[in-house]
Amino acid sequence: NAKELGRNRCAHFSSEMHARMVERTQLAGEILKGLDRGEFIAHYQPQFDARTLELVSVEALVRWQHPDRGLVYPDQFLGVAGDIGVLRRIDRTVLQRVFADRQQWQAAGLTPPRVSVNISSHRLRDHDLVTDIRDAGLPPGALTMELLESIFLDDADTAVQWTIDQLREMGVGVELDDFGTGHASIVGLIRLRPDGFKIDRQFVQPITASPENLTLVRSMIEIGHSLGVRVVAEGVETAEHVRLLADSRCDILQGYHFARPMPAEALVAFTSGEAWKQAG
Ligand code: C2E
Ligand code: MG
Ligand code: MG
Ligand code: MG
Repeated sequence: NAKELGRNRCAHFSSEMHARMVERTQLAGEILKGLDRGEFIAHYQPQFDARTLELVSVEALVRWQHPDRGLVYPDQFLGVAGDIGVLRRIDRTVLQRVFADRQQWQAAGLTPPRVSVNISSHRLRDHDLVTDIRDAGLPPGALTMELLESIFLDDADTAVQWTIDQLREMGVGVELDDFGTGHASIVGLIRLRPDGFKIDRQFVQPITASPENLTLVRSMIEIGHSLGVRVVAEGVETAEHVRLLADSRCDILQGYHFARPMPAEALVAFTSGEAWKQAG
């Protein structure tokens, strides 16, 4: 009967929830261990000038080199990391990795490209962030911080504003990530005056499917240019995407069409091969 059915469904639901909780608790423990053991690294995805197709920068994307699970992607652990309050530790680890990888690139004879680093709002409230970057002694223009626009919706956030001002003074760029997915994209742009923004791939990918989608992306690019900021397209997967975006005067392109995120060592071979010029 219905009552029994309801009870069974409820029991089923709660055992599923229980299993999920156990899994998350286990994952949390492993994240902490992984942080202690230095298992979090950065992979790098190249970004290209849309006109010249030259490699102009790379985005650092965190990866977890788990001893049993193999390479774990951020969507598998950032949620739990946020729940247990270690996002800032992960971000700090990744930034230290970026500094070390830059030195490796230099040692291998590669002039390090600009590196974009994703930064959580927690990390942005750490005073450490500014001192870590200052201590690294990078030349101006070597780093860009990718921020989610949700960070700027809070009017009273003087800590965030202070950090951003300090970053600017050190020649660190600021970009809004996943532009268009939040609720106040334009507000975020006006308030923060970033150096650029990244159009989320959910807008970029369908530009080949309908003229309306292309019009939307073109409008975003125009907004960026009228505010004097650079516009990056994420999720560029086809030659047709490249053509339409370049025609629309998008500044920088990033996506699987050119290259997937790769380990630091692989970037040296990639840049010397100039393989992307054919890809365009
Ligand atoms: P995001 O910053 O918007 O990064 C873009 C994501 O799209 C990356 O996924 C990238 O691998 C993927 N991608 C790039 N090109 C293409 C393409 O052509 N097609 C498709 N389908 N996907 C593409 P990933 O590496 O799994 O990172 C996911 C998200 O995790 C990032 O989104 C970012 O929000 C976050 N994240 C990554 N690294 C860090 C980090 O060090 N700190 C923090 N706080 N967040 C990070
Ligand atoms: Mg990003
Ligand atoms: Mg993004
Ligand atoms: Mg994203």
